[in-house]
Amino acid sequence: MILEKLTVGPFQENCYILGDETSGEGVLFDPGDEAARIALAVEKTNLEISKIVITHAHIDHVGAVAAMVDEYGCPVLMHEEAEPMLQQLPAQAVMMGLRFGKVPQVDEHIADGEKVSVGNLSFEALYTPGHAPGHLSFYCEQEGLVLSGDALFAGSVGRIDLPGGDGQLLMRSIQERLLTLPDETRVYPGHGPSTTIGDEKIGNPFLQGGGLLR
Ligand SMILES: [Zn+2]
Ligand SMILES: [Zn+2]
Repeated sequence: MILEKLTVGPFQENCYILGDETSGEGVLFDPGDEAARIALAVEKTNLEISKIVITHAHIDHVGAVAAMVDEYGCPVLMHEEAEPMLQQLPAQAVMMGLRFGKVPQVDEHIADGEKVSVGNLSFEALYTPGHAPGHLSFYCEQEGLVLSGDALFAGSVGRIDLPGGDGQLLMRSIQERLLTLPDETRVYPGHGPSTTIGDEKIGNPFLQGGGLLR
């Protein structure tokens, strides 16, 4: 498996390039900004990008989606409940003092439990709302890794003070969908360094005693 992490834009968002070297097929998760840099990194992997997957529709995760679609002409996948937030991207941008160009078009809605196939790799969508509506994490059982978006970070959890945030819901998502994965599962979050499910169970202060954010 090929896995490249690029930290992009003013919010230091992690975009992931994942691919299967046997088939040469690759996927982009959350191309949030710096389209040219992402395209250059893709070129170095020699992967053919066949899908773009969005964990949730915050501006820092989708800023380069339209440019990447122009580059690869591939479908964009996201949960249906993230659609209203996606349509509000220009307003999100104004709120943050940024400019947003073209709102990307989503081609396929993915639901909880659906599998996204990339060559021989398979990513199961885990419905993990709370930080943002329709937030999905993606679990690759064969590689023992999960892309946790902005639900779970190393030593922290996603913000709940943005529109559509819900602390109880986020805690339930983390407890029921992420912490139930094997302890050795590597976690690749939307911001910051990677970690493991086991390390977060022990060391994440937000997850002790069933969650502090109630
Ligand atoms: Zn977010
Ligand atoms: Zn984010």
